[in-house]
Parts: sequence; C-alpha cells; structure tokens
Amino acid sequence: MPEIYHMSNDSSATAGIAGAAAALARGALVGLPTETVYGLAADARSDRAVAAIFAAKGRPQFNPLIVHVPSRDAAQRIAVLSPAARRLADAFWPGPLTLVLPRRPESGISDLATAGLDTVAVRVPVHPVAQAVLKAAGMPLAAPSANRSGHVSPTTAAHVAADLGDAVAVILDAGPTGIGLESTVVGFDGDRAVLLRLGGLPRTEIERVLGAPLLVPGHDPDRPASPGMLVKHYAPAASLRLDARDIHPGEALIAFGPDLPPGAGDALSVFNLSPSGDLAEAAANLFAVLRALDEKTDRIAVMPIPDHGLAEAINDRLRRAAEGR
Ligand code: AMP
Ligand code: MG
Repeated sequence: MPEIYHMSNDSSATAGIAGAAAALARGALVGLPTETVYGLAADARSDRAVAAIFAAKGRPQFNPLIVHVPSRDAAQRIAVLSPAARRLADAFWPGPLTLVLPRRPESGISDLATAGLDTVAVRVPVHPVAQAVLKAAGMPLAAPSANRSGHVSPTTAAHVAADLGDAVAVILDAGPTGIGLESTVVGFDGDRAVLLRLGGLPRTEIERVLGAPLLVPGHDPDRPASPGMLVKHYAPAASLRLDARDIHPGEALIAFGPDLPPGAGDALSVFNLSPSGDLAEAAANLFAVLRALDEKTDRIAVMPIPDHGLAEAINDRLRRAAEGR
C-alpha cells in the first residue's frame, strides 16, 4: 500500500514532502496534487522511473509526458524559450499552462519522457505541495495525470489510490484540486503559438497576452497533434448523452446552473456541477462527478453548458467522454 500523507496537518506535511523526495530519489512514483489534477510524478531524467509511469498507468503507447519544474529559470535549463514563449511564461507561470518547447541537448531529460522528440513539454505548477516536492527533490519531474489510461483524471487523492494503488510509493493528499481540468498545452510553429490541448487556462486569456489568435492544428483524429487530442482519452464506462434538455428513463443527470430540465426529478441521480452556473466550480467538480456517476449507472444525460471561457475545455472533455466509447 502507498504511504498516504495528509498535507493539511503540519507534521504530516513535512514528513510527506521528505517521503516524496526520498521515493523520487530512488526512482519510485509519487501521487501529488497540482492546481489542475493529481499528477503521477517520477524523476524525468531516469528512463527506468519514467517507464514505471507508463507501466502504472497501463498506457498503450509511450506518449510524451509533461515535465514539471519549479521556476522559469529551471525551465530554461532544459528547454529554449522563444520571445513568444517567454511572454506566456511571464504571464502564466506558475500556473496551468504547459509549453511545448525545443529541448536542450544537454537537458538530461529521459528520451522516454519526450517520446524521443526534440521538443519537451514543460510546466511550472503553482500548487504549494507540487512546488515543495519539486524543490525538495531537486529534479525535474515527469508527471502525467495519476489515473489508469483511459480513465478520467483524478481530482482527489482517493481517485489516485483507487486507480493506481500499489504502483505508487507515496500519495500526498491535499484535498480536491482547485481547477479540476488538465493544463492547457501550447506549442509553437516558428513564433506562432499553437493550441495543442484545451485546459484549465482559457484560450481567450492566452490570446489576450499574445495579441493574436492561437493556431489550432488540423483536426485529423487518427493523427492527433498531441495525445490530449485523442478522441478516446477521457472515457468513463457509462454512455453520455450531451446537450440533454430532458431525461430519458434510466438516466442519471449531470446538471449545470439553477434551472433543471423537465423530469429531472425522475433521474436516477442528479449531480449539479455548479448550481449557481459558475464555470470554475463546474470544472473543479467535473471529473469527480463523472467518476461517481460511472459507478452508479451506465447512462448519463448532460445538460448543455454555454461554450465560453473555461466551458470550452469542459465541453471538450465531455465530448471525448461521450464519443470515446
Ligand atoms: P498528460 O501527461 O496525460 O497530462 O498529457 C500530456 C500532454 O502534453 C498531452 O496532450 C501530450 O500530447 C502533450 N505533450 C507532451 N509533450 C509533447 C510534445 N513534445 N509535443 C506535443 N505535445 C506534447
Ligand atoms: Mg492524462
């Protein structure tokens, strides 16, 4: 069983950071909170440690992973930031933005973590526990979401334990994650920024800083620009019916906002992502609600969520969950 540390308690938090750093130093895996979702972290310099991530997740292919570092300076030691990349880093790091950047030959990052590419995906998380682990471990950490491949991302330590169990040496429990969606991934084509994955940082905020629209790669589902664009990436076992304005017999309901559709009282169960219609609250609840309903039912109706700001990423995840089966 993994060692689980409760980070709300001071002495447990101190022991947890030390336990996590020791586990990472010996090549073991750590489940840790970030502001987006819980990550499954390993020493990004070690092929063996990174291979353990793929084994634990049961990933079918070796997709490139996000490498987490504590600061922009640390990012610049493994990757090259163009002027546009620097503008985004200055505006949004630390935070829920991943930049895909040319990798420095001397970066020391495992080829398995970058899938042999000459680019590396880098992020500086803002979560204090992620920051503390990065500083205590003193190494870049490869960390995809801490779920079995094909499951929705974990937003609580209990999700991590349920999915990965003994494959992780340590889990740091800091309660539910604040954002609840994965990071937004941006790459570059020359100096033009390209949206590789929708996520917790809304597209419009990035475009405001760039003063230009993000390029969106051609949508060929067989050749996704980034595995985050794989259609079946966030699939619960239950079927999802999106844009539901009524309830069919035997369905559970994922609701949004104060006004429920007619017949909502007949739904098997109802989870409201945000009764007040707040998108940040809805994002934070999304994956936990999908997991909870997946255990109760095999058919889920989902109310429409107006597509602006964070809703773009929420609707993206819901479409993948619906189409991916
Ligand atoms: P995950 O680790 O599950 O959060 O997913 C990492 C995301 O970053 C995926 O969408 C990857 O495709 C993307 N990514 C990581 N490295 C690269 C890279 N070198 N080029 C393009 N996308 C990348
Ligand atoms: Mg993932």
